[in-house]
Amino acid sequence: MEFSSRYSRQVVIDGFGVAGQKALKRGRVLIVGLGGLGNPAAQYLAAVGVGTIGLMDKDVVSPSNLNRQVLFRPDDTGLAKAKLVQERLSRFNPEIKILTFQQDLQKESTPEILKQFDIVLDCLDNLPDRLSLNQICLSQRKPMVHGGVITFYGQLTTIIPFAGPCLRCFSPGSMFACDCARAGVLGPVPGVIGVLQAIEAIKYLANVGRAMVGRLLVFDGLNGTFDEVPVKRDPGCPACGRQRHEDLE
Ligand SMILES: [Zn+2]
Repeated sequence: MEFSSRYSRQVVIDGFGVAGQKALKRGRVLIVGLGGLGNPAAQYLAAVGVGTIGLMDKDVVSPSNLNRQVLFRPDDTGLAKAKLVQERLSRFNPEIKILTFQQDLQKESTPEILKQFDIVLDCLDNLPDRLSLNQICLSQRKPMVHGGVITFYGQLTTIIPFAGPCLRCFSPGSMFACDCARAGVLGPVPGVIGVLQAIEAIKYLANVGRAMVGRLLVFDGLNGTFDEVPVKRDPGCPACGRQRHEDLE
């Protein structure tokens, strides 16, 4: 398979190469949430040549999105995010397929949509939706890359269902339970985390490196530090614990 020169800087990477690029072309990534995390994640996944990108978001652009949702412009106010991102990224990389799902996560068709993808990015902005997505990913056995941000801080982890902790195993007390609309978020902070989510998805598709499973990356933008906190699977977890796992078998 020949690749266009837009991927030449990746194909030459030792340990990635043509095999890695082919894996990305075959790859299918679903991004849930097209806010501050979903924007940069979608842009970089399109840039690297992920063959199929799914975009799920029911919302429209509002002026308060613009400090961090860098694919949108002031005259996009009131327009559907999923369609706008699809339109912009298909012009940015015409070689890939971009599918849109302008719908609520809670819709009955969501599990069926997830089936079409290899990996899911949690780019949501509230805890109830994140826990719903976590549950759907567990039921469909789909890996999920979680990203969350608040003020100057961000966090990230990768969840491989039943092989490591799920979001519910360690969610109590976690910073992503905060409300971004009230507490605020500095524009580039979700940029940092969204790009790291894209890297996790790329690693999974190309089967390179070590996934952030059982490890929570914590970014402190004020102090300029990245820390890694070990997270463990909770055997009594109501989402992925032993009993729940047997129910899903
Ligand atoms: Zn769990």
